[in-house]
Amino acid sequence: MTVDCIHLERLAAAGVDAWSSVCDSCVAMGATWVHLRRCQTCGHVGCCDESPNRHATGHFHATEHPVVRSHEPGESWAWCYVDRTEYDPAYDGAIEGADLS
Ligand SMILES: [Zn+2]
Ligand SMILES: [Zn+2]
Ligand SMILES: [Zn+2]
Repeated sequence: MTVDCIHLERLAAAGVDAWSSVCDSCVAMGATWVHLRRCQTCGHVGCCDESPNRHATGHFHATEHPVVRSHEPGESWAWCYVDRTEYDPAYDGAIEGADLS
């Protein structure tokens, strides 16, 4: 797979501190979510597209921060909204380092 996405190269391995361990926008409106996504630019945490309010996608539209990463335990894939490209370090160690042992 050739990933033609400069955003993932730049951001996927970035160590960004999450703002929260919940979707603050959902908490504020009393809603629930399915999964959480973390913005790799600023650390915003929002809910996924399976969630009713899709706050992670909303954050992208509001800020144009292109890359989110899964904020679920044990998941480390990233997604670029601009190029609609997924990056999964389980299949390609090039960004996070080759030593996955
Ligand atoms: Zn991209
Ligand atoms: Zn939400
Ligand atoms: Zn952001």
